[in-house]
Order: sequence, then C-alpha cells, then structure tokens
Amino acid sequence: MCIFCKIVKGEIPNQTVLEDENFLAFNDINPARKIHVLVIPKQHYDSFDVIPPKVMASMTEFIHKVVSKLEIKESGYRMITNIGSDGGQEVPHLHFHILGGEPVGRLVR
Ligand code: 5GP
Ligand code: ZN
Repeated sequence: MCIFCKIVKGEIPNQTVLEDENFLAFNDINPARKIHVLVIPKQHYDSFDVIPPKVMASMTEFIHKVVSKLEIKESGYRMITNIGSDGGQEVPHLHFHILGGEPVGRLVR
C-alpha cells in the first residue's frame, strides 16, 4: 500500500487541513513554502494521468474549499502536480501541491 493510502487509512498521522468523503488535504511533512498543502483523492490513482475527468471535477470543487480555508484566494498561490519520472513525482498517489503564504517565485530553468 502506498504512503498516502496509509495516511488515508490513519496508519500514518497527518495534519489535516480539510477532509470530506472522497478527498483529503494535509500539510506537507517537508514544506517548501510557508503554506504547503497536499490534496489527494482518498481512492488511489497513480497520477493525474489516470484520474477520471468526473472525479477531477469533484476534486476541483474540493480544492476550491481548501483554498478558501487557507485564506490564500486573494494573495494567490501555486498549484502543481508532478507526474512520473521526468515530472519528479516521488509518491505514486495523485496529489496536488498548494504553495503559498508568501511569493512563491518564478518557474525558471
Ligand atoms: P512529489 O515529489 O511526489 O510530487 O511530492 C511528494 C510530497 O510528499 C513531498 O513534498 C513530501 O515532502 C511529501 N511527503 C512524503 N511523505 C510524506 C508523509 O508521510 N507525510 C506528509 N505529510 N507528506 C509527505
Ligand atoms: Zn495510494
């Protein structure tokens, strides 16, 4: 079982930001910015590549609620999802990173 599935099952503790029946938002264990929250579907999908569009639509609604709760809608934030090897994905369970609470900087090479 993957590490995020263990978090969903409560086998690994997490700092929950928001939760509903199908999705969970929790603080990243190694935050890259002042705010660094991970949003996951409770059901395991390897990555964004395989999430059914209907589930993604529900996840989008959930993410909007997370952003409201974090009070970063006005100041802005960055949302990214890493996919596969070249994408730098380390945990093979779809997750969106929400980064903010400060200017996150530009994406530069
Ligand atoms: P990826 O590189 O797969 O896009 O991001 C994985 C993220 O999961 C990393 O930012 C890492 O810090 C975070 N992470 C890995 N293991 C745990 C954990 O057990 N708990 C929490 N809260 N975050 C984790
Ligand atoms: Zn999983």
